[in-house]
Amino acid sequence: MTSPTFIDTHAHLDASEFAHDRTAVQRRTRAAGVSCCVIPAVEVANFDTVRTLAHAQRDVYALGIHPLYTPAAKLADLDQLGAALEQHRNDPRLVAVGEIGLDGFVPELNTPEALAQQRQFYKSQLELAQQHQLPVILHVRRSADLLLKGLRETPVLGGIAHAFNGSLQQAQQFIALGFKLGFGGALTFDRALQLRRLAVELPLSALVLETDAPDIPPHWVYRTADQRAAGQPQGRNEPSELPRMAQVLAELRGISVEEVAAATSDNARAALPGLKRHA
Ligand SMILES: [Zn+2]
Repeated sequence: MTSPTFIDTHAHLDASEFAHDRTAVQRRTRAAGVSCCVIPAVEVANFDTVRTLAHAQRDVYALGIHPLYTPAAKLADLDQLGAALEQHRNDPRLVAVGEIGLDGFVPELNTPEALAQQRQFYKSQLELAQQHQLPVILHVRRSADLLLKGLRETPVLGGIAHAFNGSLQQAQQFIALGFKLGFGGALTFDRALQLRRLAVELPLSALVLETDAPDIPPHWVYRTADQRAAGQPQGRNEPSELPRMAQVLAELRGISVEEVAAATSDNARAALPGLKRHA
């Protein structure tokens, strides 16, 4: 029997945390059976980096402006995004507009001015996704209802609600709009009761796997506040951890990890059709 293969639908592999050992990380990723990673951009300044990296590593990428980067972004950045989407429209490794969305958690992003800026970037990027016939990768943090409202006003092909942590009702609304929901390291914590319930109640056809590397470490990589106070740095997440996260999901759902691997890979290809050429 061949071992299962996985798709990591969200990995910030261009992050500085990987600067010193990116090749080793890539080797571990493939050795673990992760056949492809989706590398989202976060700002105009990293568009070239994610594209070049995706080509070098045989991964895929998305172009977009992340909500956490909107305070520093200028409206002209949206024109640059439009130009980049146009320039790379035939690039088989460009699979989505992302990472875009709204963050309702970070206080500085939720002053009236900052929220208006977030909303403008979200709406404009949905319009670009619509124009370029690309799915979107969404950052959802205390923002599910506003994101859904935006999708109803500016419908897109679908995509992935990444690191999903909303309610079952919100999840069902994303699914109805053609989205899959991303689950990863947060699911590995015993105390994540609501998230675990959601991952079991939702149809398997709605789920995709992701690490969000280098962030959202699973419990076996995570360092507690006490450990960090004692001098240990926070653990770094990486795509090779994905199969163990899949194992957790398999156990929660009472199915085999092979079934999780096959279904979540199919779901990733359905959400991001450009993946079909690569994984
Ligand atoms: Zn991200």
